[in-house]
Amino acid sequence: MSAFKIVILPGDGIGPEVAAAGRLALETIGDVFGHNFTFEEKLIGGIAIDTVDDPYPADTDAACLAADAVLLGAVGGPKWDLKPKRPEQGLLAVRKSMGLFANLRPMDVAPSQAFRSPLKEEIVSGADMLIVRELTGGLYFGKRTRTETTATDECLYTVAEVERVAHVAFQAARKRRNKVTSVDKANVIETSRLWRETVNKLHAAEYSDVELEHALVDSMAMHLVTRPKDFDVILTENMFGDILSDLASVLPGSIGLLGSASLGSTGKGLYEPIHGSAPDIAGKDLANPIGTLKSVSMMLRHSLNLTKEADTLDAAIEAVIKAGTLTRDLGGTTSGSQVAKAVSDQIRIQA
Ligand code: ATP
Ligand code: MG
Repeated sequence: MSAFKIVILPGDGIGPEVAAAGRLALETIGDVFGHNFTFEEKLIGGIAIDTVDDPYPADTDAACLAADAVLLGAVGGPKWDLKPKRPEQGLLAVRKSMGLFANLRPMDVAPSQAFRSPLKEEIVSGADMLIVRELTGGLYFGKRTRTETTATDECLYTVAEVERVAHVAFQAARKRRNKVTSVDKANVIETSRLWRETVNKLHAAEYSDVELEHALVDSMAMHLVTRPKDFDVILTENMFGDILSDLASVLPGSIGLLGSASLGSTGKGLYEPIHGSAPDIAGKDLANPIGTLKSVSMMLRHSLNLTKEADTLDAAIEAVIKAGTLTRDLGGTTSGSQVAKAVSDQIRIQA
């Protein structure tokens, strides 16, 4: 039996509903496999602004830094759109404070679900990829200048920054189908040339057992739509990753199905569904909890080293989808909390 400290940041909109589903799954796994999970729920985002006038309060930060892993629901909503303090600042602050530099987004389309995809079934059925996006460098964090008539955004990467995220991608590939596609714009951009050189050197030195290919970001956007099944791990920098991961996220047919992990060098991580706070359906028990449950499965795997438990949760989710216990976004009529309960029941059956 092991003990784990989990911090839960429910946040705004549907965040609390999906976070509750994640907690139920962890409680069930703790119960079935004999682990002692302790939970601490803390404020972040809009609710934190409303309650203590700070999107990322100091005691939330202290709890996150002391935790083995953090589960986040969602932050933001129209209520805070015109306010000076923004819920999203809470998300940037927690990522920065925990030193998270690699964002992992798996996207897979189970054959049973492929008919929901905007792409043709034969193109997308069975696609299974993992996007590893660099999270702390590039255009989003460079110096900016502005005059009336000109503007600049600096794009800066260091070898060390490229190496640490490339390690994550190569290591992930070894646990999957052993292939990395590194995406850049090396025919035009200098940071992309550094990116490509660094990835090649690291590959030769430490990961020559992994298949490596390079793709330009413009053709990669095309390939993700025309032949998504050809990719395993996709490694890319901050802005390209932002764009490509949104593109990939629509392939399964609902944004409510996908989870994510943000990792640093310590093994601790922040886990969250890729969707936002979905204010249009908040409080109605319509939110699909599966993206959060997939995030919990990533937490079990990446931060807690509980592989068997993660496999069990994945199998439980798959069984519930197969049984047709689906929320409205997938064409079903089951409530979010009932789907969460069904997955919890399945964990006991599958274990
Ligand atoms: P944000 O700015 O926080 O990303 P957004 O409005 O751009 O917010 P989402 O909050 O992800 O994006 O919502 C996009 C659409 O997808 C909405 O119509 C929402 O209802 C739907 N949606 C998002 N998450 C879920 C979910 N878990 N289950 C069902 N529908 C969802
Ligand atoms: Mg959005």
